[in-house]
Amino acid sequence: MHVWTIANQKGGVGKTTTTVALAGLLQQRGQRVLCIDIDPHASLTFYFGIDAEGLQATAYDVFAMGKHVDKETTVKAIVSTEHDHLDVMPACMALATLDRKLGTQGGMGLVLQRALAFVEHRYDYVLIDVPPVLGVLMVNALACCERVLIPVQTEPLALKGLERMMRTLALIQKSRGQAHQYTIIPTLYDKRTRASLDTYKKLAQRYGKSVWNGMIPIDTKFRDASNEQLPPSMFAPQSRGVLAYQTLLTHLQQLHL
Ligand code: ADP
Ligand code: MG
Repeated sequence: MHVWTIANQKGGVGKTTTTVALAGLLQQRGQRVLCIDIDPHASLTFYFGIDAEGLQATAYDVFAMGKHVDKETTVKAIVSTEHDHLDVMPACMALATLDRKLGTQGGMGLVLQRALAFVEHRYDYVLIDVPPVLGVLMVNALACCERVLIPVQTEPLALKGLERMMRTLALIQKSRGQAHQYTIIPTLYDKRTRASLDTYKKLAQRYGKSVWNGMIPIDTKFRDASNEQLPPSMFAPQSRGVLAYQTLLTHLQQLHL
């Protein structure tokens, strides 16, 4: 089972879009996929048309168990979608209260890792959509993953946010004693603007091989796909944006061969 965390300490950079796009493509490539939504805004949960209020359990219930998280709660918090082998652990608003309620409790940093161990044999890929704030949720996602995907909007201000994210990675790396593999993904690329190209060049200069040598273009089909509550690759398989995510996914899968 491969666990990828999609994170950046900035909102609106394409984290949720990247998670859903890659999840859909992986499913179409015959992989068993679990998306975990731990952003209290629950964008990914809404994307799949899941109403968290009507559910028996969500990611919140998993975290609320703390270090005593068990298989029953973990399995209860996973719902299937209308697509075979594409499941979701939904988020709900209560996740926003976790830091205050449980943040200092011992063992809180490894709850997700424990939970994932219970479903290890059910999935080939787990993709975790993370909120843009450094707190117990992000710490959990960074502690349990094999690779971090960092979507970065190709506009000048994005570099500052990325620096912050890299400091966070370094911090978590220290406590888990193992380096992260990470890939920076230039997103929302607008080929008509200088700013996009300039930012892309700066990224490549500063972060070298960690930057994927492609980019995700601005593509209005992503918004249409989310309106239809379908992964982009199922809504518009031949769109520029989806083709870019296909290339990205092939690149990422090769890194793990
Ligand atoms: P985040 O999860 O980082 O906050 P989202 O994935 O929700 O970011 O994207 C923010 C907004 O931008 C959404 O409305 C989404 O549909 C849109 N969006 C994301 N990526 C693209 C893209 N490549 N082209 C056009 N719109 C995009
Ligand atoms: Mg999001």
